[in-house]
Amino acid sequence: MNKILIIEDEEAIADLEKDYLELSDFSVKVCPDGETGLKSALSEDFDLVILDLMLPGMDGFEICRRLREEKDIPVLMVSAKKDDIDKIRGLGLGADDYITKPFSPSELVARVKAHLSRYERLVGSGAKLNEVIEIRGLKIDKTARRVSVDGVEKNFTTKEFDLLTFLAENPNHVYSKEELFRKIWNMDSVGDIATVTVHIKKIREKIEADTSNPQYIETIWGVGYRFRV
Ligand code: CA
Repeated sequence: MNKILIIEDEEAIADLEKDYLELSDFSVKVCPDGETGLKSALSEDFDLVILDLMLPGMDGFEICRRLREEKDIPVLMVSAKKDDIDKIRGLGLGADDYITKPFSPSELVARVKAHLSRYERLVGSGAKLNEVIEIRGLKIDKTARRVSVDGVEKNFTTKEFDLLTFLAENPNHVYSKEELFRKIWNMDSVGDIATVTVHIKKIREKIEADTSNPQYIETIWGVGYRFRV
């Protein structure tokens, strides 16, 4: 039986969530404030956490951040305000999903089930969960394919992500544009090495504070690029 932790200070909402989840054969624990919620989440073995944003003691942002430092389990965040959802996304806290109040209990149950089965597939496949590369303020989550800079999530295309990840995994090594093109785009791909230059430029715009003085991807004139650690 899957164990769900609900961290929610509004008793009526917590009860409703609990009732519906128990009807769907989940085992449910409720914590009414931030501190006990985080403590339970870290010390007990839950399969998923439903986390309210506004809580007494410690808010949902902080709980999610601290929980993510130690656990990979799905976190479903609940908020009364649509604006908060943008904030959750922007902070790159690693929440798996967001739902705004009021929501229908059956929608909540459906989302819980979807996240549990997705998570179980990942664990079952033996995939390493949330393999993360962190260099100074840059964080590359290889599992979720997400990139954040100083906690702010950035949108990356597939190739931009692959290129950045390749360079970050092979730091202090100078790669020519030809080598990078072969590794990321494969030989048979349409395009040319100018594609590499364009992608490097786009990546820098997303991760560098000052693109004219890059701190992560250095240009080695006449040779190629090098990721600095
Ligand atoms: Ca609340």
